[in-house]
Amino acid sequence: MRIGIYGGTFNPPHTGHRKAAREAIGALGLDKLLVIPTAEPPHKELPEESAGPEQRLELARLCFGGLEGAEVSPLELERGGKSYTADTVAELRRLYPEAELWLIMGGDMFLSLEKWYKSGELLREAGIAVSARADERERILAEAEKLRRERGARVRFIDQPPIIISSTALRDCLRRAEGREYLTEETYAYIVKNRLYGARAELGWLREQAVKLLDPRRVPHVLGVEQEAVRLAERWGAEVYDAAAAGILHDITKKCNDKEQLQLCEKYGTMIDNLEREIPKLLHAKTGADLAWHEFGVSPAIREAIRWHTTGRENMSLLEKIIYLADYIEPNRSFEGLDRLRALAYEDLDEALRLGLQMSLDEMEERCIVPHPNSLRALRYIEKELDRKRAEPYSGIGAI
Ligand code: FE
Ligand code: FE
Repeated sequence: MRIGIYGGTFNPPHTGHRKAAREAIGALGLDKLLVIPTAEPPHKELPEESAGPEQRLELARLCFGGLEGAEVSPLELERGGKSYTADTVAELRRLYPEAELWLIMGGDMFLSLEKWYKSGELLREAGIAVSARADERERILAEAEKLRRERGARVRFIDQPPIIISSTALRDCLRRAEGREYLTEETYAYIVKNRLYGARAELGWLREQAVKLLDPRRVPHVLGVEQEAVRLAERWGAEVYDAAAAGILHDITKKCNDKEQLQLCEKYGTMIDNLEREIPKLLHAKTGADLAWHEFGVSPAIREAIRWHTTGRENMSLLEKIIYLADYIEPNRSFEGLDRLRALAYEDLDEALRLGLQMSLDEMEERCIVPHPNSLRALRYIEKELDRKRAEPYSGIGAI
């Protein structure tokens, strides 16, 4: 039995790691490749916003999942403390007394191998497979020959697949809502869901997730809200990413029936008021906010904008106002008074909010629907705000 050992911090593991693993399995003719996330690397500190050990293990399982011959092992994480490769090799030797062991490493690691902790024992128990660029080959083979002569080392050279990205650069990408192409689908979803590395979900990915959850007939509306929210955010100086994400996700539970709405509330521990218990359809703002929060790693600001998009509330944030209005005036809408509301939204956001709330309450009255108390409060609040602003037209300019 021939076993490969592929260690690393895998913080996060990406498609480059997966490629290197596949390459090693093929080149060495391995029966099994053990992928072993490090507990604590001996020579470097993990960055502060790093994923926890359990999370790195789970990420590795998701990344290498389905790769034939590869198996993720918690061996070093279970041992804890500094992860010395020689200890790992010794442990594997005990577990597999008859196996041929191959340790896979990069060129830099190999060239400093002699300084490693218990390198003699390590070289006795395992062959070394050096995965490096073709132009490093000669230097590595020279060192390999020296190690063979002096210490009986067995060394093989594997052509490294072209490096696509480092984990460090990938973490930067994730913070900028990029980098999805370097991760497997499952790894990406896990990182976003668990808010690892300060990741923000790519808008394209959020759109795909939303489309999966939406009634196809609602998709144009949702994309319209995204567009309108982005325009309003640009006009009023809100975070454009937040506006787009909240627009995309605002109706993600709209398709759920009453029973499903109540199930979601149960699952996420959402509080329900009496009116909502009677008309669970009203819940889609709350359940949408909770689903976005728990599954798509959105920020609190985005969660709240989704949360209040149907009723509004007192003292709304800029983003909450934008989503409320974008939902109302997006390009696919058509109703009496829309043009006026649309124009106002770009001239005076608070006046537009007041008008929007008023129009929606009027419509409810006409259709004999009991308005939600939050809408009444929202209207009263914004009216007072506007009165106050009119009473002190020069406030903020400075005392005379
Ligand atoms: Fe809605
Ligand atoms: Fe909507």
